[in-house]
Amino acid sequence: MKGKGEVRTRRSLAQHWLKSESALDNIVRAAECSKEDRVLEIGPGTGILTRRILPLVQALISVEIDRDLCKMLVKEFGKRENFLLLQGDFLELDVESQLGSFEKFQNQNKVVANIPYNITGPIIEKLLGTIANPNVRPYESIVLLIQKEVAERIVAKPGGRTFGALTVRVQYLAECQYICTVPASAFHPAPKVDSAVVRLIPRQLEKQAHDPKYLETLVKLGFSAKRKMLRNNLQSIIERDDLTAILEQLNINPQARGEDISVEQWVELSNELKEKTKQHGTLEENLDVDTINENDIENDI
Ligand code: SAH
Repeated sequence: MKGKGEVRTRRSLAQHWLKSESALDNIVRAAECSKEDRVLEIGPGTGILTRRILPLVQALISVEIDRDLCKMLVKEFGKRENFLLLQGDFLELDVESQLGSFEKFQNQNKVVANIPYNITGPIIEKLLGTIANPNVRPYESIVLLIQKEVAERIVAKPGGRTFGALTVRVQYLAECQYICTVPASAFHPAPKVDSAVVRLIPRQLEKQAHDPKYLETLVKLGFSAKRKMLRNNLQSIIERDDLTAILEQLNINPQARGEDISVEQWVELSNELKEKTKQHGTLEENLDVDTINENDIENDI
């Protein structure tokens, strides 16, 4: 779609241009950029956020998949010494290896981006890594504009409806802060859903999983059927009575559901269960894969 003087937008690339100055202010403020920062931006689009960040930082590297937009970006920012544009799919690119001799762009310490919402989950996973394979060089901070519904799941506290597998997976790797809501009307064209700015600060939880792979699989299983008690979701790996005993020992209500227990309690549960179920084979073997419904991020734009 293209009106007079407008940039064409590709729906397949989840292109929605941010036009709200106050949303931009909030993103930039949350990123706390300084002249020491080497920032990574994913999906610069027409460069509205790029324009804001560039004067504040030592180096900015932006990854954009759309060739036509890349041409525009090069036209506007190509001569700026602290700007580097990579054309390609962020999910496919090994950014670091592309940098070769561009030393001053290496080792980015922050991410600031209004990302394409159809790949929010994979982008966050690439930035943070997974429970079993955390990013070995974690960023100092990651400020993202994402779907509000996903933001709420990422920052959720136990006990609420939004707490789920995604919450545990992300909060295991990062402290998550909800910065502000950004209404759909702040974009052109307006997406179907509201958005939110979140800040993720990668960190190691004090309580670590003895076997991160086990925790990862346990979390999947624990949320496999929504709003079911843990003792039902986990019955393929442990007898109800045995689980009740473990839950009581961990001061968890035996009737708790996956969303009722904190990330730390998930870790404790994983460590205990791993110990107790050792003799019954591995979790993966006991896991009935068909029962898993990946309640991951839907494409809701
Ligand atoms: N940051 C801009 C644009 C956001 S829209 C703004 O705030 O206005 C999302 C942007 O991500 C688009 O420019 C789109 O072309 C780009 N994009 C989509 N998929 C991508 C991918 N896999 N890798 C890199 N960029 C991508």
